Amino acid sequence: MRNIPRNVDAVIGAQWGDEGKGKIVDALMSNGEYHYVARAAGGPNAGHTIYVDGKVYKFHGLPEGALYPGAESVIGPGAVVDPVKLTAEIKNYRVGPDKLLISNNTHLITPFHVSRDEIREAGRGKQGSTKSGLAYVAADKYEREGIQLETIAEGPEAVSEVIIEKLYGLQQLRRYVGLNEHNPVAEASEWIEAAKELLQYKGDTTIFLNRILDVNGRILASGAQSHWLDINEQPYPWGSSTHTGIGGIVDGLKIPAQSIGSVIGVMKGIKSRVGGGPMATEIYDQKLANRLRQKRGEPGAEYGTTSGRPRRVGYLDLPEVRRSIMANGINSLALTKLDQLPLFGRSMLVAVGYEIDYEEGTHATAVAPNNSKELDRARPAYEEVGLWSQQKNERVRAAKELSELPLEAQKLIRFIEEQLDIDINFIGTGVDRKQIIVR
Ligand code: GDP
Ligand code: MG
Repeated sequence: MRNIPRNVDAVIGAQWGDEGKGKIVDALMSNGEYHYVARAAGGPNAGHTIYVDGKVYKFHGLPEGALYPGAESVIGPGAVVDPVKLTAEIKNYRVGPDKLLISNNTHLITPFHVSRDEIREAGRGKQGSTKSGLAYVAADKYEREGIQLETIAEGPEAVSEVIIEKLYGLQQLRRYVGLNEHNPVAEASEWIEAAKELLQYKGDTTIFLNRILDVNGRILASGAQSHWLDINEQPYPWGSSTHTGIGGIVDGLKIPAQSIGSVIGVMKGIKSRVGGGPMATEIYDQKLANRLRQKRGEPGAEYGTTSGRPRRVGYLDLPEVRRSIMANGINSLALTKLDQLPLFGRSMLVAVGYEIDYEEGTHATAVAPNNSKELDRARPAYEEVGLWSQQKNERVRAAKELSELPLEAQKLIRFIEEQLDIDINFIGTGVDRKQIIVR
């Protein structure tokens, strides 16, 4: 039998996105083990923030980790790209064609995809999306009407005409929902110029990645969004339009399933999400919620990296993490934001199961269901866990090993590990790149 080494490790969100995946990818890249970092899903609706010695780096389309010396990055056909935003990011970080390969099959977000997203969000069908056009580029892709990077190579003029035509077609709808009209010719021309710039990065990422595996190279796949936002798992329609789990990584990069090694699930101690939809452990006490969220602009504050919107916050919800572990083969966990838990006070609640009311009676479950109706009816079963004082939190921020953490923190880590039956191998202890415990 052909032997396929398990040389691809993956980082996946175990909650609702913004768990700190960027930071974990950054930590994994830092030891030089991986020379390749790949993005398989999502698009510019994702946002990852990394702090290095007080300097902040934000990533949307580029795979985080792309900045490491020697690292080569790949955007696979499962991801989508907004040429205007990606070229700006590429320029900002000075990433040359020797450092980045984008699949010829990657679909491009055009101004009319963004416009349709804006129109929906301005109207009654509002979903709380980031207005990046993701749902609409996905729809066009599956209707096989989309524009791939390859389409630009074949003829940018024809694409430009299509964009102009479609933008004119949206003017009336925009007026109707109170949005400014387009300037179709100018917007199409700006977009085409950016799309043409991306052509120098175009290539066959499937062959590229599989050749790396053939010679025993190691690849880090950086997940976008999270298990719970996956198009096949979300409490529909409250999620994203892509495949955000391990399946999305395999398919979005076209690498063999057998090549997957570690699947690292990232979760944070204070759970949060943007957008509408059910949230079983949501915190409605606005005073507590505001305290947990921190002030806009503060490092690690709970405001969307892309949208800047305040995120909804909730208690740590283990039933939903169990589902992510189960469905993705997560075999290692990262717990971020340990340093933020004292914002709760001297104790916090952790949901260890749900009770869900049905007509036939109440059903207790350890694994969260994935549909809105059941989740709306779910009553979390909480356990209260002790936390440490603000003074002791300095020890958290400085800790390099588990044994250096306050005893309450060590106990909490063990509690989560026992509940989920899995090791926590990474612990985030602050926003900075260096504030992490690796076990
Ligand atoms: P991603 O989408 O999963 O990559 O996460 P984001 O970068 O969008 O959001 C996570 C936020 O939490 C960012 O502002 C990070 O700087 C911050 N963060 C990550 N890990 C930690 C941590 O261990 N402690 C604190 N305080 N903040 C963290
Ligand atoms: Mg994010």
